[in-house]
Amino acid sequence: MTNLSRRHWLALAGAGAASLALPGCTAGSRTISAPAARVIPTGASGPVPASAGGPWPIDWTVGDVRITKVLDVVEPFDAARAYPGAPLEAFAANADWLPAHFYDPARKAIIFSFHSYLVRTAGLTMIVDTCWGEDTPLRARQHHGRWLENLAAAGVRPEHVDVVTCTHFHADHVGWNTRLRDGRWVPTFPRARHLFNATEIAQLEASVEAGTTPPAVYEQSVQPVLQSGHVIRLDGGYDVARGVRIVPSPGHSPGHQHVEIASRGRRAVLSGDLVHNPIEIRHPEWTKVFDQDKGAARATRTRFIESHTDVDVTLFAAHFAGPTAGRIVSSSGGRRFRPLGD
Ligand SMILES: [Zn+2]
Repeated sequence: MTNLSRRHWLALAGAGAASLALPGCTAGSRTISAPAARVIPTGASGPVPASAGGPWPIDWTVGDVRITKVLDVVEPFDAARAYPGAPLEAFAANADWLPAHFYDPARKAIIFSFHSYLVRTAGLTMIVDTCWGEDTPLRARQHHGRWLENLAAAGVRPEHVDVVTCTHFHADHVGWNTRLRDGRWVPTFPRARHLFNATEIAQLEASVEAGTTPPAVYEQSVQPVLQSGHVIRLDGGYDVARGVRIVPSPGHSPGHQHVEIASRGRRAVLSGDLVHNPIEIRHPEWTKVFDQDKGAARATRTRFIESHTDVDVTLFAAHFAGPTAGRIVSSSGGRRFRPLGD
């Protein structure tokens, strides 16, 4: 499978997503827009069942580094489509640590949070991943997210951002790279250096050229930034600032990369799409529809999970909903995800 455009993502979801969508599914992002709240409430009006609990923190510190979750939208996704052929009864078997903000048993749906991470430390305001982006008639899917408002609620305007990095170029990670102005897609962050993986750029350009990937994601969300001249092409690891490093982790996409943070003896990893849902921590072997190279993705995911088990590293995945941040720990039944504070 090539890069997922919005239309492709919707196609993957198919009737599943349509039937799973609930009215008022942006309630969480609306509420998070309020600066005073700074939490993500959950409730009956949102896509996550009221039993999911909450409210949830959106701000964390890792030594001298502050990490803030900037929410776009939260949506359910049919688990059978996400993990074709997988024994989905595993969700019930692990229900004690997979509550409804991770998996909704009534709808048999994993819960997707689409959010960015704002990484702030001395001299650096950085955004990791830019979600779905601006709703416009030129985009195939209307998410009605409140991403820009949530960024503002965190005290950041686009012109404040020094660095943008996308863990990869799937549509849900590049959208706010640009905005539509007078019929043209222009960079959202005018001052920012954009740290893109060179392999990811080359692969997307080649697949668009070959006609195997629809051009919209490239033309709307990547090419305008490349043409702005504000892109640094990364061939490997890259030190962004003291304690903030970008590390390649190919598999989910050819040039996938993640971010490692180490500050004052504390460590965290912003793992992008190495894992999409906590069930993969127990079952890294499951085949996942979102992975471009399923074998490489499985190998990278397995290595990542093994090397981050029972170590003092906080995991910030790109799509974990609810409490979001946590650790990978071993238990009697196997590895599991344990949210911070549990
Ligand atoms: Zn993603």
